[in-house]
Amino acid sequence: MSKLLSFKGGITIPRSKEQISQTAIELFPAPSRVIIPLLQHNGATAHPTVKRGDPVSIGQLIGEPSEHSSLAVHASVSGEVLSIGLFPHPNGRQVLAVEIENNFKDDKAYTQPYDRPWQEAASQELIQKIQQCGIAGMSGEGTPTHLKLSQPSNKTIHTVILNACVSEPYSAADTRLLIENPEDILNGFLILKKITGATRAVICVDNKLQAVNQALQARIANPEYKGISVVKLKSKYPQGAERQLIYALTKKTIQADGTAADTGCMVFSPSTALAVHEAIIDGLPLYQRVISVNGSSVGSPGNYLVRCGTPIRSILESCNVDMTTTKKVISGGPMTGITQSDLDAPIIKTTTGIFALDNTTPAIQDYPCINCGYCVNVCPQKLVPSRIAKYVKQINMKKAAEWNFSDCIECGACAYVCPSRINLVHFIKLAKFNAPLNTNRSGSSR
Ligand code: SF4
Ligand code: SF4
Repeated sequence: MSKLLSFKGGITIPRSKEQISQTAIELFPAPSRVIIPLLQHNGATAHPTVKRGDPVSIGQLIGEPSEHSSLAVHASVSGEVLSIGLFPHPNGRQVLAVEIENNFKDDKAYTQPYDRPWQEAASQELIQKIQQCGIAGMSGEGTPTHLKLSQPSNKTIHTVILNACVSEPYSAADTRLLIENPEDILNGFLILKKITGATRAVICVDNKLQAVNQALQARIANPEYKGISVVKLKSKYPQGAERQLIYALTKKTIQADGTAADTGCMVFSPSTALAVHEAIIDGLPLYQRVISVNGSSVGSPGNYLVRCGTPIRSILESCNVDMTTTKKVISGGPMTGITQSDLDAPIIKTTTGIFALDNTTPAIQDYPCINCGYCVNVCPQKLVPSRIAKYVKQINMKKAAEWNFSDCIECGACAYVCPSRINLVHFIKLAKFNAPLNTNRSGSSR
């Protein structure tokens, strides 16, 4: 048997996600009120196109892009606009949002599919449609897909990669989509291949996700998916991280200030490929997504198709989370997600999951570093997290920069293995937050 492709470092996490990856996607009931942020991606906030008292339909434009890095935002329920103002956002800030009261009539706005076979369309037309449908990278990173696809002419993309390696443990939204809806994902992937002009299309699959492997192998034998290949990657964390995925496949490294396009590759998640398919083939804007709800205090864990704007509190209530014992609620995944202080924050386009942890979770208390080197062994970016943390604690950011903290992808693997339970990622995030703009990653000044 040939050796599985992978990267150096990383960790093996107990596969408790297998349980959730066997749970079929269920439709989550639309809530009576949604709060839809006009910023759900990395970029500029959209301008509201509705006002208080306006009736709205599902899929209706409620926020138009304010600039090229901005994304269209659409209503996820039909009903009436209650207000437009600042509301809690899963990123921890207050963000301009549209509050809509659901009339439960599910009136749908008129959607316009692409007017001819997408194979005949120019790339720019398809990119425009993707922007109109408000699609951003749905694996959590939130780059507007139209921006990602609009590469400068000096960057040639030769390989598109569909990321079927789960980026976060205990999360299975993309896994379930690949099992339940592989054709639409593959069609979306082919559309992305055409737009980029890539000559190679590869699906990278975690070798232990057997159901995904079987679903994909069965489909790519079909002539309409000719040219797509499946490559199995070693099952470990963070194999689904973009840099580690590209390295495993091509042995090319992305510089700290570079992008995947520098290597001639572009990576898409299954959720994003599905959203592209729905935008181009059905004309559907992105107003709902599949998330995993999991964690030690979740009574009914599962994978749910949820309307964007659904308050996290509604998700927790419906999934039988005991809030009297819950200590922590995380938006995203347990390794890289954001702890929520306000449960009125909503699900957005980039939310991959909600995790609720109860008081059986050990209290966070750290001990002195014992120089065991475990954090160094597992770091997929070949960093020395213990050194970076040491200098950040000393508020010596220049020394911390000499240890290349900006190369960190914040995967959390170092903190996961640290026997002294030092929250190493916290110190690295602190270093990034405090990094003077004129200090580069080698510690010298520009
Ligand atoms: S230093 Fe950063 S990249 Fe390395 S293991 Fe820790 S969080 Fe991951
Ligand atoms: S894993 Fe923890 S204790 Fe070991 S060297 Fe790294 S920071 Fe120190």
